[in-house]
Amino acid sequence: MVSTYSLGRLFRIRVGLHISWVVLFAFVTWTLAQAFSDLTPLVAAALAALCAMLLFASVVVHEFAHALVARRFDVQTQGITLFIFGGVATLENEPPTPRAEVAIALAGPVVSGAIALAAAGAMAVCDRFDATPLGAGAAIGFAYVAVANAVLAVFNLIPAFPMDGGRVLRALLWMRTRDRRAATIAAALVGVTLAVCAVVASLVMLGSTHAWPYAWYATLGGFIAWSGWTHLRTARTPAG
Ligand SMILES: [Zn+2]
Repeated sequence: MVSTYSLGRLFRIRVGLHISWVVLFAFVTWTLAQAFSDLTPLVAAALAALCAMLLFASVVVHEFAHALVARRFDVQTQGITLFIFGGVATLENEPPTPRAEVAIALAGPVVSGAIALAAAGAMAVCDRFDATPLGAGAAIGFAYVAVANAVLAVFNLIPAFPMDGGRVLRALLWMRTRDRRAATIAAALVGVTLAVCAVVASLVMLGSTHAWPYAWYATLGGFIAWSGWTHLRTARTPAG
């Protein structure tokens, strides 16, 4: 990817930031700042930016879960990149077996779900035992991390290939048919269909509510549809 800035390496995996991520960061910060309308604009913006940072840290942890489980199956990761549609771990090759694909695909949502539960627990502790403003602030921070990670886990499990849920669907079809190519075609068709439905629903909501987040949902749906379509075309092209 051009215009990707390296943030360094962790577990020997390069973490990069694509220039387009700045748009997403600004969008998330702006959206969150609206929720803090009873604070002064500067404090609201600073708090929103901090929450956005926590969200993107959660995305990076999610991607590392995929990458480190992939490594256990001898599938190496070229890098982890944050970009306008979130994060992606680019694997060097396809998982060797359906079981490996299920393990690699589920690793991200499982870790996000575990972080959500831990953060919810920490929030409850702060709420109960620390009545100071610092305790209340920490409780809000933990609540945000819990919600962000729960959303990450659930959203990624939607069976729209090439998202995590779609990869699980492909692995199950691959297990049944023992034909990875046919499984990819079927899973990608489901993915494109779901993504196109999401685009249409988002555009309808945008038209009726004029709420800008729906424009981003429509764009994200379009990107997932395009990714699914690309996989579909590649799988349908006869090898050699
Ligand atoms: Zn994932």
